[in-house]
Amino acid sequence: MTTISFTYLPGDGIGPEVGAAALHVLDAIAERFQHALDVDEHLIGGAAIDAGLKPLPAETLGSCRRSGAILLGAVGGPKWDHLKGADRPELGALLPLRKELNLYANIRPAKPHPALIDKAPLKAEYLEGVDFVVMRELTGGIYFGKKGVDNLGAYDECRYSEAEVRRIAIKAFDLAKGRKQKVTSVDKSNVLETSRLWRRVVEEVAADYPDVELDHLLVDAMTMHMLTRGQDFDVVLTENMFGDILTDEASVLCGSMGVIPSASLSDGTTGLYEPIHGSAPDIAGQGKANPLAMILSAAWMVRLSFGLEKEAAAIETAVDAALYGGHVTADLGGSLSTSEVGDWIARHVKAPHVS
Ligand code: NAD
Repeated sequence: MTTISFTYLPGDGIGPEVGAAALHVLDAIAERFQHALDVDEHLIGGAAIDAGLKPLPAETLGSCRRSGAILLGAVGGPKWDHLKGADRPELGALLPLRKELNLYANIRPAKPHPALIDKAPLKAEYLEGVDFVVMRELTGGIYFGKKGVDNLGAYDECRYSEAEVRRIAIKAFDLAKGRKQKVTSVDKSNVLETSRLWRRVVEEVAADYPDVELDHLLVDAMTMHMLTRGQDFDVVLTENMFGDILTDEASVLCGSMGVIPSASLSDGTTGLYEPIHGSAPDIAGQGKANPLAMILSAAWMVRLSFGLEKEAAAIETAVDAALYGGHVTADLGGSLSTSEVGDWIARHVKAPHVS
């Protein structure tokens, strides 16, 4: 028996709705596989601000540090858009949480589900066979550089150290070893000094992985190649801002934002798991939110932070069955509510041959 002990941060908008569905599925996992669940729930983002706290309250951060495994819904929304800088839910909660926990490796999959290929805005021929992962550096680069406004204008400094590039490159090559053994490193080395450092260090790391093929692409070209020959990629390695942009682009290959999980990892088993979508204020509180991305994020948490492979696979199998059977929300053409999808998947997890 394992105690699946984690910090649960429902956050804002649809976060608590998709979060409730994911907790229900984790309950089912605990029941079927005889584990214990230990859920430490805390406020974050707008919900924390509304309670008179900072976007990332000290208690929340303390719980995250203790547990080392965090399941997050989403933060932000128009209610808090008037706030500035670190008072805002996203800037004041997500960036410091990543930095404080040293969550430097962000992983997002790009693998269209066969049941969703006809829902994607691209022709099927561009989607069939696509199966790559973006490994994005998450705690360095321009988002964390010195920023300012002066009498000449405004500036954001982009810095990378060799050590920062090396550790994310090692994560990418390690991941590629267990996949199709190919790393595509994306940079802008024809213009940026940080990108020239990036390319040099990635090549040094590649020398330790003779079985993994490495190629380099410039980020502007990659925006095109990703959509027109996505089948050629395996692990796409890139820096913080390029990764931010490319991962959103990659989501177009998957048919819907509502089905893509993500993990932000540090060394060891520390990880933050969250859907790639935001708080979707336009549909919050209506039971319309698709909970699959959050449920798949919970699967990644049990696999990567707790080493529970069978349990993660049971969740993924149930999500597959829901997608093939059309037991989904309206964004995917179904008629179920958020909680009904969660109930269906929890039932399937407990009794896979019955649902
Ligand atoms: P969004 O992802 O919240 O929504 C974009 C569109 O996709 C909306 O039409 C929404 O209804 C739909 N959508 C998103 N998730 C869905 C789901 N699970 N099921 C069905 N439909 C879904 O992006 P946005 O509108 O640009 O941002 C809204 C807020 O979320 C903003 O405040 C933004 O800063 C915040 N945000 C937070 C995170 C995070 O917490 N990591 C990430 C992105 C955006």
